[in-house]
Amino acid sequence: MGRSEATTDTTTSTLTNIDTTKRRILVVEDEEALAVGIRDAIEHAGYQVDVALDGNSALELARAGQHDLIVLDLMLPGQSGIDVLKQLRAERHAVRVLVLTALADEEDLVKGFEAGADDYMKKPFSPRELLARVEAQFRRAKMETAPPQMLELPGSIRVDLARLEVHRDGETVPLTPREGDILSYLIQHNDRVVTREDLLLDVWHYQSANVETRTVDIHIVGLRRKVEPEPSKPQLIQTVRGKGYRWYA
Ligand code: CA
Repeated sequence: MGRSEATTDTTTSTLTNIDTTKRRILVVEDEEALAVGIRDAIEHAGYQVDVALDGNSALELARAGQHDLIVLDLMLPGQSGIDVLKQLRAERHAVRVLVLTALADEEDLVKGFEAGADDYMKKPFSPRELLARVEAQFRRAKMETAPPQMLELPGSIRVDLARLEVHRDGETVPLTPREGDILSYLIQHNDRVVTREDLLLDVWHYQSANVETRTVDIHIVGLRRKVEPEPSKPQLIQTVRGKGYRWYA
């Protein structure tokens, strides 16, 4: 299946702003019927789709680096979705990852985000919801026009926003694309308090901020761990009680 450069008229689709034909998505789901359902829904929206039914084949396919997004189930036989994700991030794959979880367990979600997930969906979900999340992952045009920046932070911490890397204590710590977006957004709006709602609408691109805001907080915690000189006493990403967050500058 080659990448088609053809432009299609997508006026009948909800994905009108995106040329979906150029996007390739890897779906990792061991429940075959569900995998097929997801594939059909995504393919129907015009994306190109590959399917992996277990962690090993997922890694193999993902390593080829052809995908713009991975829809990754967490509970897989053999290697779990978390294992797959950790391995990809360790190998510096910056592909966006939307995690699927049947577990309401917050612990599991935290692990997913720590391993580098960009977003998650709880099962069961409708094809419509799934497409909205997939689309949200690709609606980042505004963010991507922001000039690449190198930040010099207290504690001799340097952040390379173009390469999504943090250099600290002689180490290089990768940022996820989502963390990079949050950081850029906070910096671009450093003249005011950024609310969780702002982040959900402008960074996550949700249609409404009427969703679990825990997602934002989990990401902020992860980001602080990477960029704050003293993550337990955040000074760069400040919490404004009852309102949101503010960049220190
Ligand atoms: Ca599963």
